[in-house]
Amino acid sequence: MPISLPSALSPQAEERLRRVRLLLVDVDGVLTDGGLYYGNSGEEMKRFDVKDGAGMWIAGKLGLEVGIITGKTSEVVARRAAELGMTRVVQGAMEKSAALDGLLSDGKYPLNEVAFMGDDVLDLPVMRRVGFSACPADAHEAVRGLVHHVCSKGGGRGAVRELVDLWLQATGKLPEFMKRFGWEETPHA
Ligand SMILES: [Mg+2]
Repeated sequence: MPISLPSALSPQAEERLRRVRLLLVDVDGVLTDGGLYYGNSGEEMKRFDVKDGAGMWIAGKLGLEVGIITGKTSEVVARRAAELGMTRVVQGAMEKSAALDGLLSDGKYPLNEVAFMGDDVLDLPVMRRVGFSACPADAHEAVRGLVHHVCSKGGGRGAVRELVDLWLQATGKLPEFMKRFGWEETPHA
């Protein structure tokens, strides 16, 4: 393969990731570095990573739906989710396991076809249920010790893109990805 990924899955983790068709992600500490920016006039800002965004868009085009479960509620998350065409989004989910049930209530995805990336202990109840769990490199120790895969990149710094790339490789979709997005196998002269 012409690209080398920043981290490798164990064979068992790769087997699990191969089945995944829905990727759910936490926001603070996963899609962002966990920083919460408050302005004097009440506005809240977050910094998203453009490569994570591109990865989630590419995933959708190649058969991996992406959604959000987050404990906080903010306009910027609704906007980012809309930009990426997400329909499975739960904000204000203090009990994330119940939010997972809500997102899966249409029966389209069994739990073994769902992956979740979180960074802190509130995410553990969801991680214990889904078929594949992952976290950014800078997740809480309790999370890093439990997940199927710890990414080499941090929250808001490409961890989600890293997982999408691993999914492309595990499912054998890397060639399709490169063909559709004009990535030539032979280097330019
Ligand atoms: Mg978090």
